[in-house]
Amino acid sequence: MKKKRKRHGSTIMMFIIISVFLLVFWKQQQEKENELSKTPLPTALHETLAEKRDILLSQALDKGIHVVIVEGFRSVEEQNDLYNKGRTEEGNIVTHAKGGESYHNYGLAIDFALLNNSGATIWDMEYDGNGNGKSDWMEVVSIAKSLGFEWGGDWANFKDYPHLQMDFGLSIAELQKGQRP
Ligand SMILES: [Zn+2]
Repeated sequence: MKKKRKRHGSTIMMFIIISVFLLVFWKQQQEKENELSKTPLPTALHETLAEKRDILLSQALDKGIHVVIVEGFRSVEEQNDLYNKGRTEEGNIVTHAKGGESYHNYGLAIDFALLNNSGATIWDMEYDGNGNGKSDWMEVVSIAKSLGFEWGGDWANFKDYPHLQMDFGLSIAELQKGQRP
C-alpha cells in the first residue's frame, strides 16, 4: 500500500514538473510574439527595392522605354481606403488586400506604368514605343525579374500586371507578426 502511494506521488510530481516546464515555455513564446507584434511598420520603401527600382528605370531607359512608378510604399490607412473602393466606396474593386495585408504596406512592392511618346501615363501591355517588335511592358517585366522582382502578372488567381515585389521569403502573416527582411 505504502509503495503504491509513493509511485503515485512521483507520477504526480513528474506531471507537475512537466506542466511547469510547458507553462514557462509557453509564456516565453507569448512574450516573444508580443515583442514582435510591437515591431513598428516600415514608413518607406525597403532600400533594396529602392535601389533595384532605380536600376530598372535606367535599364529600361537604355532600351528607349520610359517607366513610371505609380505606387510604392503605402500606409495601412491608405491601403484601407483603397480596399474600400468598390466596396463601401464608389468605383471598381482594385485590391483584395486590406491594410497590413499588402506587400506595399511593408515597403516591399512597387507598381509601374509606361510613359508613351506623347508623355502620357499608359497601362497598355501591347504598346511598342521603342519599335523593336516587342511589348515594352513585357520588356520591363523581364528586366524586373532579372533584378529579382516577382511579377504580379505571374500570379495564378489575381493577376496584378503593374505589380512588382520582393518578399525576402516572408509571408504576409510573418510580416504581420513583426518579422522584417
Ligand atoms: Zn502593387
